[in-house]
Amino acid sequence: MSDTEFETEFETDDHRRLREQVREFALGEVAPRIAHMQAHPADVDTHLGALIAQNGWIGATIPTRYGGMGAGHLAKTLIIEELSRVSGAAGMIAQASQLGVAKILHFGSPEQQQTWLPLIAAGECLPTIAVTEPESGGHVLGMRATARRDGHDWVLNGRKVYIGNSHIGHLHGVVTRTDDTTPDPRRDDASALSAFLVEADRPGVHLEPHQPATGVHGFSFGDLVLREVRVPAANMIGRPGDGLAVAYSSSILYGRPNLTAVALGLHQAITELTLRFAQTRRRYGAPLADLPTIQHKIGQLHHRLMTARHLAYQAVHRLDHLHHHPLQDGRPRPCDDELINAKYWGVQAVQDAARTAMSIHGAAGLRTHYPLERLVRDTWHLDAPAGTSDIQLHRLAQTALGGTGHPAWSQRLAHLITPPAPEPEPEPEPERAA
Ligand SMILES: Cc1cc2nc3c(=O)[nH]c(=O)nc-3n(C[C@H](O)[C@H](O)[C@H](O)COP(=O)(O)OP(=O)(O)OC[C@H]3O[C@@H](n4cnc5c(N)ncnc54)[C@H](O)[C@@H]3O)c2cc1C
Repeated sequence: MSDTEFETEFETDDHRRLREQVREFALGEVAPRIAHMQAHPADVDTHLGALIAQNGWIGATIPTRYGGMGAGHLAKTLIIEELSRVSGAAGMIAQASQLGVAKILHFGSPEQQQTWLPLIAAGECLPTIAVTEPESGGHVLGMRATARRDGHDWVLNGRKVYIGNSHIGHLHGVVTRTDDTTPDPRRDDASALSAFLVEADRPGVHLEPHQPATGVHGFSFGDLVLREVRVPAANMIGRPGDGLAVAYSSSILYGRPNLTAVALGLHQAITELTLRFAQTRRRYGAPLADLPTIQHKIGQLHHRLMTARHLAYQAVHRLDHLHHHPLQDGRPRPCDDELINAKYWGVQAVQDAARTAMSIHGAAGLRTHYPLERLVRDTWHLDAPAGTSDIQLHRLAQTALGGTGHPAWSQRLAHLITPPAPEPEPEPEPERAA
């Protein structure tokens, strides 16, 4: 454990063991792939997702009765964090498919759950969620993709963009309009949308070529085009009109904390690298870290990281223990704002850390063979997914002004959020004969 890591009261021995296991995997299996991923930004790493999934980690929050880990949301955060600490792309691959689990857990029919959750838990199926469109990002209700009823089927048409794991996902969760209306920005009709499970190999599902991006090389977040894609009515997730609820609840309960965890892993890596640099680089006959201005910047790095970790773990700990501190009326105390706040702070903090780290490194941070340059580029991929920082502040402002107009998903879906299994009590010491 490095000096910039600290234990929080939220971690258990199970969490610590899991962290070690993921760390060992990330160093042994992911790190050797980084050079290739960086050298080929136009390629998707089509094997890394399967490697991660084989450990069962996409099923972190899937209950054990479906073969999942049943380990909860803090465990999911630790998995993403430790992968991201070594490779932002690996963290993004894990988080994108863990995000895809949410809709099936919260809105799936018993048949859908029985069919898909064991496959996902076993690492044989990578799910995605496809909401964003060219003309609707933050404004989800602006989407134009449609599904029309045709006998026992639904027929889907439209384009989805920036879909995490687009090129390796097996099962897309696609949200479309089902109300026959064209989007009207003046009307926020929450029941206009519905969600569907669409297998990646269905006729009419077309994948646009992978487009290289600024960072997270190896991860795909590309475009899906749906042309007359026919799915049985049984593939609808939830009821007609549940699409917005599927999109929003997945984004709040899984998307926000998942991106927070990627930010945390990158933040830890940036901080460690920079500390090593400042302690070994010599200037004026002494380590760079002896300079008061550099110490001030190191203090900032450490402060932001400590705060980010505390907010991130506290928010998912609340999600794991929704029933522990109920409201006076007995309902679970919601934690949507904590999840939103942790994502906002985590992303701002890691982007500030990236700038500070670059400044401490001087010219040395710019060379592409040195990991800082890669880590900094990866931080640019965290603001947009699961709501930009503007959207997080918009949501927090609504709470502060005394009425959100949004359901508290952590409260509404609390009965479907499985708390992590308690750790076994330690075996009592056998009594010694006198
Ligand atoms: C790495 C990555 C992975 C992604 N994964 C997925 C995925 O798995 N599934 C998926 O469906 N989508 C995914 N996305 C898409 C992501 O959800 C969108 O990028 C996001 O919703 C923002 O949409 P946009 O990029 O179109 O920006 P826009 O919504 O067009 O926003 C543009 C600008 O306007 C601001 N803005 C917009 N609305 C408001 C408002 N109401 N108040 C104040 N400011 C506002 C934004 O903050 C931003 O600065 C991913 C994106 C990235 C980069």
